[in-house]
Amino acid sequence: MPLGEFELIERYFSRPARRAVLGGGDDCALLAVQPGMQLAVSTDMLLEGRHFLATVAPERLGHKALAVNLSDLAACGARPLAFTLALALPAVDEIFLGGFARGLLALAERHDCELVGGDTTRGPLAICISVFGEVPDGQALLRSGARAGDDLYVSGHLGDARLSLEAFRGRVDLDGQAFTLVRDAMEVPEPRVALGLALRGVASSAIDISDGLLGDLGHILERSGVGASVEIDRVPRSAALRTQPPRLQRLCSLAGGDDYELVFSAPPERAAAVAAAAREAGVAVTCIGRIEGVTGLRLLESSGAPVAHDFGSFDHFR
Ligand code: ADP
Ligand code: MG
Repeated sequence: MPLGEFELIERYFSRPARRAVLGGGDDCALLAVQPGMQLAVSTDMLLEGRHFLATVAPERLGHKALAVNLSDLAACGARPLAFTLALALPAVDEIFLGGFARGLLALAERHDCELVGGDTTRGPLAICISVFGEVPDGQALLRSGARAGDDLYVSGHLGDARLSLEAFRGRVDLDGQAFTLVRDAMEVPEPRVALGLALRGVASSAIDISDGLLGDLGHILERSGVGASVEIDRVPRSAALRTQPPRLQRLCSLAGGDDYELVFSAPPERAAAVAAAAREAGVAVTCIGRIEGVTGLRLLESSGAPVAHDFGSFDHFR
């Protein structure tokens, strides 16, 4: 007898509530919101073929499904509390479920973010997670806070996830070690939660990079009513990406997507505080340019010469 819906939930996705007043098992979970805190809420959906390749190991898929949601909390400077999991499965595959739950719950554990409910149904493989976090009143990092004169930073390095995708598509050749590294960037991204928390009161705006640096930075510029210039050679790239042809390096690091790093702005007088936040979080942070009053995004060579570009960002309907 294959597992039924409720046995499946019980076996793989039931966890005793710790912080939640009430976890899974009832019609609603109950979360207590501390006084002076706001609840930060975000949802992300992952579909096979669109957001992940069928070849991905279930454990890695579980990790990534939660990681992309935690990345949204990170971008807001919110501390993870809990999440729900809506899952459509073509069939009950216990090998898949075991691996998926392991990867998912291991990352959840590391961020002290508890699974408090969800929904389970039969259908083409789809994973939808809603995540809940908390942030002190008025302290959330928003897309709208960038001001002319602010420095512009990114965390980590960019472009490896896209490079991995290009390798999977057979368009680039990587040696074994480089392939492993960039594949990890694509399949098991590390959400920058600690950095987001450390940037509260320091960054003037922030967003996580899911659709490519230029596109996501564009959201900050639009919401903040400002422009920016970015010196493209300052955008940090891995050793694996730096051995690729210049055009591919730029495509991957500027418009790649799936990076799950943070791009954020901060006034120049907070440069030391930004460096301290990066140290505290154990994540490298690089200044790549500046926010400007003139709207639009300008890309510059190190010489200061403008770079013509046609890098779009990822859009599901274009
Ligand atoms: P309802 O019909 O009231 O929506 P369900 O029968 O869908 O409830 O789910 C029963 C319980 O199991 C609920 O508490 C729900 O939150 C939980 N649950 C369902 N699917 C999952 C899942 N994939 N992960 C965690 N909890 C789940
Ligand atoms: Mg239900």
